[in-house]
Amino acid sequence: MPAAELLVTPTSNLFPPLFGYILAGVFGAVIGSFLNVVIHRLPREESIVFPNSRCPSCGAAIAFYDNVPVLSYVLLRGKCRGCQKHISARYPLVELLCAVLFVAVAWHDGLSAALAFDLIFAAALLALVFIDAEHMLLPNAITYPGIIFALIARLALPYLTATHHFDDLPSLAHGALSNSPIWLTSLVGGLLGALIGGGSLWLMGWTWEKLRGIEAMGLGDVKMMFMVGGYLGWRLTIITIFLGVLSGSVIGILLMARAGKKDMQMLLPFGVFLGIGAIAALLFGSQVADWYAGQF
Ligand SMILES: [Zn+2]
Repeated sequence: MPAAELLVTPTSNLFPPLFGYILAGVFGAVIGSFLNVVIHRLPREESIVFPNSRCPSCGAAIAFYDNVPVLSYVLLRGKCRGCQKHISARYPLVELLCAVLFVAVAWHDGLSAALAFDLIFAAALLALVFIDAEHMLLPNAITYPGIIFALIARLALPYLTATHHFDDLPSLAHGALSNSPIWLTSLVGGLLGALIGGGSLWLMGWTWEKLRGIEAMGLGDVKMMFMVGGYLGWRLTIITIFLGVLSGSVIGILLMARAGKKDMQMLLPFGVFLGIGAIAALLFGSQVADWYAGQF
């Protein structure tokens, strides 16, 4: 089989699929463990590489055998071995979610060059979701490198996968950009997605500010959607925003009804809903967009 053909094969038969999924799950749990450190330390502006993992209560260093994803939490019954203080359930939750997410992305991509990029993208989104949920903050330390990462992926992936990996490429390559080289088409698609993603979030914030006279949306959401749009392209970005606004509104209304608040002042971490929407769009968006386009 020629090398080029190996590249475009979406699922390789190098090893059985089940083994691949188990590997993806274990790798996801380990990365989830690292994301816990990022989620805890980035908003506090601490270094994410030094020192090693510590108990948030007593500060004791956590031994490697107490730092096994999910398993250690279960064995220690959610308590620090030193001070016996309760450890947040967020730790095993992030590890478990990251494991599931990595299996889902592996299922979506198969063994391909795209898999590495999609895993990084999904992990960054997971970190953003949990940081925004806790701190109402989407750190530049993730979104800025995320935007650069999206542009690099846009340039590299069309060559590495030898396919139209990005969902928006077929529509662009057969449209106005049919005579352009694939890297240019891919880059223009990324810029288009970034403008639609960041632009609509900026517009939503601006409109809300004019209507209510208060700043409702931080620029963090705009930067996050620059990153998401740049990576996913315009089709999946529209789906991301649709899912984010829909789920955010439903949860917001439910929360306000529960709290009995008539005033719409309550702030929601919108990045949480956008992040979940972007993950859903990455995994299932193309099928939804194709189905929708087929209705006309
Ligand atoms: Zn402790």
